[in-house]
Amino acid sequence: MHQELVKFVREIYSSNEVIPLHAPIFAGNESKYVTETIDSTFVSSVGKFVDEFESQIENYTKCKKAVATVNGTSALHTALYMSDVQRGDMVITQALTFVATCNVLYHMGVEPVFVDVSMESMGLCPMKTGKWLDENAFIDSAGECRHKFTNRKISAILPMHTFGHPVQLDGFLDLCSEWNLKLIEDAAESLGSFYRGQHTGTFGKFSALSFNGNKVITTGGGGMVLCQSDLEGARTKHITTTAKVSHPFEFFHDEPGFNYRLPNINAALGCAQLENIGTLLDKKRQIANNYMSFFNRSDYVFFKEPEYAKSNYWLNCVICPTKKSRDQLLLETNRAGVMTRPIWKLMSNLPAFKHCLSDDLSNSKYLEEHAVNIPSGISKELM
Ligand SMILES: *Cc1c(COP(=O)(O)O)cnc(C)c1O
Repeated sequence: MHQELVKFVREIYSSNEVIPLHAPIFAGNESKYVTETIDSTFVSSVGKFVDEFESQIENYTKCKKAVATVNGTSALHTALYMSDVQRGDMVITQALTFVATCNVLYHMGVEPVFVDVSMESMGLCPMKTGKWLDENAFIDSAGECRHKFTNRKISAILPMHTFGHPVQLDGFLDLCSEWNLKLIEDAAESLGSFYRGQHTGTFGKFSALSFNGNKVITTGGGGMVLCQSDLEGARTKHITTTAKVSHPFEFFHDEPGFNYRLPNINAALGCAQLENIGTLLDKKRQIANNYMSFFNRSDYVFFKEPEYAKSNYWLNCVICPTKKSRDQLLLETNRAGVMTRPIWKLMSNLPAFKHCLSDDLSNSKYLEEHAVNIPSGISKELM
């Protein structure tokens, strides 16, 4: 089986070299635009590409306002800060995620509560979230959601669209209005993924995208905060650019801000990448379809997009029948030069988050031991 997989992946990519999990592809105007920033000297905080990249993301996602940042982690930090999540608050999120989601909470002095993921999306489960809230939370006289046993304020739900598969967002919108919570989407992995026809990251009060080198498109390093109104967009821009009040020469900063602005040279790369996103997503779907028919004939289950959503199939994922077969698959494919990776270790097992509250995490634990990511990038040969 594992040798057949190696052979199959090599056929997809027509390559005998090492096959990475997800390498970036530069098949369009990348060199041209980046060179333009160098020739003009505008590689840093001033230049036309940042505005252009932001407005292209607005067009593509149909969000009201997009604000570019240096990476996805800073975009997520900004999204939580703008949602008025405060030191000492609790935020409900998933244990099955990339560590960036929780690092941001940690550094804000916010306590994550880990709720299980759904087997439909591998992202936070609205049913289990509702159950946790029913058993552990109450609404106080001021209308705020609080934890029954510590009286701490619970301020937000932070789902992550795992490998690009959208969580069931309607469920979270309902919970947020019932419990007076804010919805913030970690949409770092889901550029090009749609929930009932609407782009992920446009449901939350604020959301974050990432353009790291392994994501669907890349700016080298970069991120984007998606905002729901022009006003919130303007304030997000303000606080990510040192909160400097516009003036021809004077330096006045009207609040403590961040220096999270995306440099023009990175935005240039992003503009070129975004020109090809349609083709890129089509090719990624083709690869996913190939894997689907390959695994159909086995007891390995290829993870398909939820029926309510269109996924970008950022990282393809297969669920192995046993932990033993998972370990064996990892060993044999990597040894043969086909990169595969286990899913992340649960956040609830990391030293920084061991003490945090959680539910039974049964699906998360199952996926932790059975899920494997397989090569998912688009190579030059495939374009
Ligand atoms: C990639 C990613 C981020 C942000 O990553 P950066 O490297 O900071 O751009 C955040 N959350 C998740 C789930 C991610 O996969």
